Amino acid sequence: MTLMHLRLQHCVVKAPILGHRTQKYRPEWEQLPGFNHWLGPVKDNITKAYCCYCTREMVSEITIIKKHAASLVHSKNVKSITGKPITDIFKKVDDVNEVKKSIK
Ligand SMILES: [Zn+2]
Repeated sequence: MTLMHLRLQHCVVKAPILGHRTQKYRPEWEQLPGFNHWLGPVKDNITKAYCCYCTREMVSEITIIKKHAASLVHSKNVKSITGKPITDIFKKVDDVNEVKKSIK
């Protein structure tokens, strides 16, 4: 008589989330022509990007950001705000820079 060890196999296979993948904010997007001066990260949320001209958050995906850049609301805000120093608006980004370092 054979004693069989019925081992419970833990098949914890983490299935990759198919379809839409959440993108993380990339600081290099800020260097892209048309994105500089207004694009910034959102503190505590790397899946979001921030437009300091429109003071609104958006999903940090390049397609979404491009769409935002081309939107009428955004170009209006750029026109009305251009010339204003944006350093104050981006003050909160300082903390995020620390996070960026740790991600890299
Ligand atoms: Zn905008």
